[in-house]
Amino acid sequence: MMNTNDLLKKQMRTLRITEAASVIDSLLIQSEHGQDSYQVFLNKVLDYELKKREERKIQKLYKLARFPFNKTLDDFNLEEQQSLSLQQLNQLKELNWIEQVYNIILLGPPGLGKTHIAVGLAVEAINKGYQATFISMGDLVKVLNTQDLLTKSKNTIKRILKSDLVIIDDLMYMAMNGQEANLFFQLINKLYNKSSIIITSNKGPDEWGELMGDIGITTAILDRLIHKVEIIHLKGDSYRIKHRQTIFNN
Ligand code: ADP
Ligand code: MG
Repeated sequence: MMNTNDLLKKQMRTLRITEAASVIDSLLIQSEHGQDSYQVFLNKVLDYELKKREERKIQKLYKLARFPFNKTLDDFNLEEQQSLSLQQLNQLKELNWIEQVYNIILLGPPGLGKTHIAVGLAVEAINKGYQATFISMGDLVKVLNTQDLLTKSKNTIKRILKSDLVIIDDLMYMAMNGQEANLFFQLINKLYNKSSIIITSNKGPDEWGELMGDIGITTAILDRLIHKVEIIHLKGDSYRIKHRQTIFNN
């Protein structure tokens, strides 16, 4: 014979209230001890379920994002990076730019924290429930080239198009051929006005044309990227080199 609690759990699972079902025993004991009203008890059960679901959703979004490292904006030392003020950073953290589908272009030489800031902003976005995807330009070109061939690539493109925020890291790191530039344009065009894009690059937009080969396509891509954009120029010395651990101390 099933006791009442077991029956209750079974019913909750059938109704897909599975998170609360797994802790219903202790919730019952707590509420009995605290002499909660029925209302308060029910509220605690539903609250638990909703909180857990939200947590799960955010965990899932983290996995989907494919970050190269786990760093947040709190880990970012602003004193080391004078080109970005606390006020600017706090404004970016509010994520109005995602709501308004603005893009962000982070420029500057290697090691200044472009990727770190991009990931940090995406972490903020995910915590608010937005979907984000991180991809290096190199990987993106590979994925674009194989989207009709490999299911994995096709799914990556789908994931990118579904995202509210797409980070394209190290744009123009390598030269593209005409076909690749064209596929890249098509992707940017699909994201245009729909998803925010963060681009990191150690080359300025004036140099992008050279690497994309075709001036027409470059102009078309740039038009869409900079229609609504915040451009951040990072300056200074590489954080990596400044903070490099000494391997040979003696
Ligand atoms: P970039 O993308 O500009 O080449 P990264 O974002 O990869 O640079 O930064 C290089 C490393 O230095 C990363 O580990 C990053 O977390 C760290 N870093 C760079 N700038 C800062 C900073 N101002 N505060 C803390 N860590 C930083
Ligand atoms: Mg980088």
